[in-house]
Amino acid sequence: MSDENAGLCADCTFAHVVETARGSRFYRCRRSETDERFRRYPQLPVLTCEGYERTAPATGDRAPQF
Ligand code: SF4
Repeated sequence: MSDENAGLCADCTFAHVVETARGSRFYRCRRSETDERFRRYPQLPVLTCEGYERTAPATGDRAPQF
């Protein structure tokens, strides 16, 4: 499963990617640990989700200063 097939989980801060030894890839929702409304392994692609929070962009990638 590629990230583009995961929908919102692909860049959600609560998603944890699990990869098996055979190359399968799953998205585990960490919100499910504290909120029963969320499935531990959501059915993908997730197109709408009230728990979605976009992962903050990495720091240190600032544009060069001239
Ligand atoms: S909160 Fe929603 S979008 Fe985020 S990982 Fe869980 S199911 Fe995916």
